[in-house]
This record gives sequence, structure tokens and C-alpha cells, in this order.
Amino acid sequence: MKTIYLDNNATTQVDPAVFEAMRPYFTELYGNPSSIHRFGGQVGVKINEARASVAKLLGCRPDEIIFTSCGSESDNTAIRSALNAQPDKRHIITTAVEHPAVLSFCKFLAKTDGYEVTFLSTDERGRLDMDEYRAAFRPDTALVSVMWANNETGNIHPVEAMAEIARDHGAVFHTDAVQAVGKVPIDLGNSAVDMLSLSGHKLHAPKGVGALFVRKGLRFRPLLVGGHQEHNRRAGTENTTGIIALGKACELAAESMQTEVTDVSRLRDKLESGLLAAVPDALVNGDPDSRLPNTTNISFGYVEGEAILLMMDQLGIAASSGSACTSGSLEPSHVLKAMGVPFTFAHGSIRFSLSRFNTEKEIDFVIENLPPIIKNLRKMSPFSPGKKKTACFRTGSPQ
Ligand SMILES: *Cc1c(COP(=O)(O)O)cnc(C)c1O
Repeated sequence: MKTIYLDNNATTQVDPAVFEAMRPYFTELYGNPSSIHRFGGQVGVKINEARASVAKLLGCRPDEIIFTSCGSESDNTAIRSALNAQPDKRHIITTAVEHPAVLSFCKFLAKTDGYEVTFLSTDERGRLDMDEYRAAFRPDTALVSVMWANNETGNIHPVEAMAEIARDHGAVFHTDAVQAVGKVPIDLGNSAVDMLSLSGHKLHAPKGVGALFVRKGLRFRPLLVGGHQEHNRRAGTENTTGIIALGKACELAAESMQTEVTDVSRLRDKLESGLLAAVPDALVNGDPDSRLPNTTNISFGYVEGEAILLMMDQLGIAASSGSACTSGSLEPSHVLKAMGVPFTFAHGSIRFSLSRFNTEKEIDFVIENLPPIIKNLRKMSPFSPGKKKTACFRTGSPQ
């Protein structure tokens, strides 16, 4: 059976060119970059080339990039570093819609270390309120952490403007840009962002590698202490294959972002409008005016997201749902909950996230085969009101 992979915000296929670039570093060039001999030295050179490629994509200096094991480690490192470097400051500002790598860690810090955390709310489209943000600062605000783009809705937050406000208040500004890197242009040279996290497996590199940008001059405290790797900023023998792959993935992203964004967003828009036209009581969650090019989050009212996913899986279509009924909690996604999406819609939400590898034929297949699935599930649904409304965005009309 052919498979149609529309879950690229969960993870991506390693690009064949990335795989080719990393392959020799498993079997021939397997040295430890810390070694004196040439087995090590030549790998160290490649790691620094990869560092330069990551820096180029972000518009920063190579020595501002620290390689880590994943996006979660980058997020944890950034937050811990900002707090440990400013021991007198006890307040954190973040949002209610962060990835758990930030959200759960901030809740953990509140519980175990007594930090006070402000979780910024959103409106029904998932937009942050800049007045609420400005009012949240306190003299002891150490850190602001706001994601560049949301993994569930694709919403893009105004992080550059928010970073300037944080700078005016003397707070460190970190952004989880795991979903943004490679999909939106980023120029850290002209920004007030102090720290930025990214993850390899969200941009066609393998799992188990990430990076953290730390602005030169910012006081930094490592999370992992031990060997001298990464200039004493992250101990542990480097994931050489992963780092070289991440460098290649960033090169590819820099080369093709422009055309790819146009192609991917065209397919995403086709999928979205095709489904909205064919399925009554379907709504798009998120901000149509400020969204990643590859993501659409659609609520199909009066059906369970899990049921839709299982039916789609039988046709070889992979996507995600925001709700966590599989864990038995019946809790809808924290992101949709923060946006105030009503229960009967939050539970039927499906996230479709595309990549450079999706084709028009795949999208046509989904538009043709998903609407009958929803129709059948609704016949069985106890929530179904049995009356038809027209499809639209939660506020306003479809693009
Ligand atoms: C996937 C993701 C992460 C976590 O990255 P890992 O490399 O899987 O640890 C963090 N933030 C966002 C927004 C993500 O989408």
C-alpha cells in the first residue's frame, strides 16, 4: 500500500542528500573530533563546516551555535541557562501554547524550584495579546520564552517584536523555533532574540540532533558539564553523523526555502479548501494571516479525531490529532483549549503537516477519500446534531 505522509510537524523524512552526506561518517570517518590524530581532526573540520551552515541559515555567527541532542535539550538548556545566570530573578514569561519541552519544563520549575511563571493566553485564532505581554513584565523577570511557530496550528508569533520588548525590560528572550527553521526566513543578525532552539528531525535531518543559538556576550550556563566539547558549553562526544546531517539539511533549506514555501503552501491550501468544501461543520484552527506554509489544523465537528486517524491509517494516510484520548484522559489539545475551541470541535481536530516530498496526487487522494470517512463516522457519533452548517474559519471566511 502506498503511504501518504502528512505528519511532518511530528518528524520528517531524512532527505536522501542529507543521508548521503552523513553516511561516510559511520563507517570510514568515524573518529572522535577531540582526538589529536587525523581520524579525529578531519571530523572536527566537518563539524565546524556544519556549524557554519546552520549559522548561515539563521543569519548568525558560527560560534553562536551549540550542537545538542534534540529540540527539547536546546529548550531546557536555554531556560536553565537564563535562570542560572540571573539567580536573583525569579519570574518567567511564556505562553499557554508552547510545546511541552518549554511548557512542562516551566511548570516543573514552578513546582520544584519556586519560580513564578506567567502563561500568556491567546485569542480564538491563537494570537497573543501584546498588551497582556507588556503588562506581564516585572523587575525580576529573568526570561521570556515564546515559540516562533506553533507545532499544532502552525501559527507564527511576532517573536522579533516581542524580543525587542523583552530587551527593553532587561529580560533574556528565548524562542523555540523548531517548527520555524527552514520554513520561514530568520535573520538573527538583525534581531533582539538572545537564544533560539532548533531540531534536526523537523527539517529532514535525523532524530537525535539539535542546536541552540546563544548570542555572543550573553551569560551562559551549560546544562551538561563534563568534557570540553562545544567550547565547554555542552559536554559529551559529538553526534558527528547527526551534526553533519544537520549542516547539510540547513544548506538544503537555505537553497530551496523560497520555492519550497510556495509549492508546499499551494498544496496545503488546496487540501484545506478541498476538505472545507466537501465537509460541512469543519473549521480551521489558527491564524490564516500568520501561519506556517505547511500546516493546517482542521476541526471536524462531532467526530473523534482518533477515529478519523485510524480510518485514514487504513488508507495509508498519516496525520495527527491534538486530543489525547488514546491515553484515556479525554483531554483535548492544550493549544486548542487555550484558544477556546469548543469541546465538540477540539476533539475532532486533525493536523495535516506537509513537506517538500508531498505531491499533488497525494493531496487529491486525501480530498477524495477523507470526506466519506467523516460522513460515516458522523452517522455513528453521539455528538452529531444532524444539522448542516457551512464550513468556515472560526472567525471570518475561508481564504
Ligand atoms: C518537535 C518539537 C520540539 C521537540 O524537539 P525534539 O527534537 O523532538 O526534542 C520542541 N518544540 C517544538 C515546537 C516541536 O515541534
